[in-house]
Amino acid sequence: LDPRPVSRTTTTTCGYCGVGCSLRVHVRDDEVAAITPVHGAPVNRGHACIKGRFAHAFTRSRDRLTTPLMRRGGRDSPLEPASWAEALTVVATRLAEIRDRHGPDAIGMISSARATNEENYLAQKFARAVLGTNNVDNCSRLCHAPSAVGLTASFGYAGGTNSVDDLDGTDCILIAGANPTEAHPVIGARIKQLVLRGARLVVIDPRRIDLAEMADVHVQATPGSNVAVFNGIARVLLDEGYADEEFLRPRASGLAELTELLRDYPVEQAARLAGVQPETLTMAARLYGTARRPAIVYGLGITEHAHGTDGVRTLANLAILKGAVGTPGCCGVLSMRGQNNVQGASDMGALPDMLPGYQHVTDPDVRARFGQSWGVDVPDRPGLRILEMFEAAIAGRVRAMYVIGEDIAQTDPDSGNVRKALAACDLVVSHDLFLSRTAQLADVVFPAVSFLEKDGTFINFDRRVQRVRPALTPPGQAKPDFDILQLLARTMGADLGCPTPADAMAECAALTPTFAGISHARLDRDGPLHWPCRAADQPGEGRLYLDSFATPDGRAALAARPYLPPGEQPDAAFPYVLITGRRLVHYNSGSMSRRTPNIELRPREVLDLHPDDAARLRLTDGDLVEASSRRAAVTFSVHLTDTVAPGQMFTAFNFPETPTNALTSDVTDTVTGCPEYKLTAVSLRPV
Ligand code: SF4
Repeated sequence: LDPRPVSRTTTTTCGYCGVGCSLRVHVRDDEVAAITPVHGAPVNRGHACIKGRFAHAFTRSRDRLTTPLMRRGGRDSPLEPASWAEALTVVATRLAEIRDRHGPDAIGMISSARATNEENYLAQKFARAVLGTNNVDNCSRLCHAPSAVGLTASFGYAGGTNSVDDLDGTDCILIAGANPTEAHPVIGARIKQLVLRGARLVVIDPRRIDLAEMADVHVQATPGSNVAVFNGIARVLLDEGYADEEFLRPRASGLAELTELLRDYPVEQAARLAGVQPETLTMAARLYGTARRPAIVYGLGITEHAHGTDGVRTLANLAILKGAVGTPGCCGVLSMRGQNNVQGASDMGALPDMLPGYQHVTDPDVRARFGQSWGVDVPDRPGLRILEMFEAAIAGRVRAMYVIGEDIAQTDPDSGNVRKALAACDLVVSHDLFLSRTAQLADVVFPAVSFLEKDGTFINFDRRVQRVRPALTPPGQAKPDFDILQLLARTMGADLGCPTPADAMAECAALTPTFAGISHARLDRDGPLHWPCRAADQPGEGRLYLDSFATPDGRAALAARPYLPPGEQPDAAFPYVLITGRRLVHYNSGSMSRRTPNIELRPREVLDLHPDDAARLRLTDGDLVEASSRRAAVTFSVHLTDTVAPGQMFTAFNFPETPTNALTSDVTDTVTGCPEYKLTAVSLRPV
């Protein structure tokens, strides 16, 4: 241990997961000496996990990008260091050429859930005001787009209904399709404490996750059966008198249609579709139905399906039937966002159909307001979603892809198709910390900075806007995405305005009613604020809808949605189901966590396989197996565990050497285009 005192300490927000823990970063010689959680911080209350506390060595990794890189001799030439002026000029010139020759919609921009709100605000402004296209999207498309659409349709706003603080009052937690112990560890720990203090726990998950061990009931439903499960529980709530008639009559719509649909979902039928015992489903319903203040916590196991939006809507039905949302003391519905700022990237309008605050681009009044401020005509036609951009690139309609801080060649589904799309483009630009798989395929790479080196705000999973402050000096010539976009716009002869992140938030607040009361000065003075926050003298709203829901008729909307089978189904050729998700010590592409001591705890990816399946294939722990889907084959080392059900397996996508997403399905949610990451049909062959 270095005995010298630290030279400075900065309070900021964790850049790994969507919990948004407040951290104190202690720095010596411009390197992180230690990170400690902020005691008394509202979200993490003095706790932080192994990623937030210890996974910071990547900031000073020798392979950080420190200069722009570009290919001077075409696609087959190597990436070479370049000056900022040279790289910016090349990108500006080629983007302008492509825009002028093929039209603005020949350019696609992917913004980042790793970037700040201010950077996302600027990215969508750059796309719309400088390039002239709505082809801008962010990785919430690949995780929580069904939450944004589903929660808006059910309740009014594209976020969870309550503050995480409300969990303190719950007497029953229903967790569906989320594994907080690994993906959101501080929340996982808080849920354990609540259960130890007496709260009942219902876990709905195809895997026996850690929290299932202490659950009152574990509904181990087959992947893709969420809608059947929730319809079955809803039917029990109605049949056994747990629905809150006094709430439903004035405050909800759609009860007659839902009641009619649920005639088809007696608990035996729902249980059959989900592959569980009817008694298990009934018990889950009774626990939720008898609770005074039940809470719903859900994650990507609900959204990343072919019918992910239906999953969100039918889960929201349970809270509405029970009157457990929009009422005093309620705990509502919390959607566990994955990456640190996946909520904020969408809130800031990095979406092909929405300007900041989910204001639709097809609304002429909205376009006029933004257009007047920006001095341009905002394009009115919704742009392409991420996966549509790839298809358009392969078809020759998109000629340039501009990717900010996402390793799409490793993390997006059917990654072979992603590579094909990038190869088809005339220009690929990447902002990254490292030479990621995507950066390796780019024509120009701009060296970006991490959350420990930038200024702005993130929004966590309970709609809390929190400050991000630079603790370290960026290495070499690396720059924040914010500065790169400003420089590029200027090189293209445009001016994005907003010279600082605080100015960008101020501009966003002036144009976006739900953010009108939020400013950096206020956050610095008063601490985090929930949106909506409509005026500088109003507190943000942690618990929503106490007066009325934000739907057109002011009522919560029950949704009658039938169970539909998943997009991809196992068959004789591909008889197993692969589920993908998160591991505790690594994060997403692993580009940050793999460059920290966390790598010693999990040095490679493994495939979790049930011992019965392993015995059938004559595999033992550590053996190699080739998993093949309809798209590709990947070799894994197997890890035998009965936390996965027979016929199912689980892995993550943290290692480029084990490209899990070469396997994953190109099926998407029928409403939002979110990929069906949670269900890929595969075959297995011992290697
Ligand atoms: Fe960071 Fe999430 Fe861990 Fe908190 S729980 S320290 S936000 S990774």
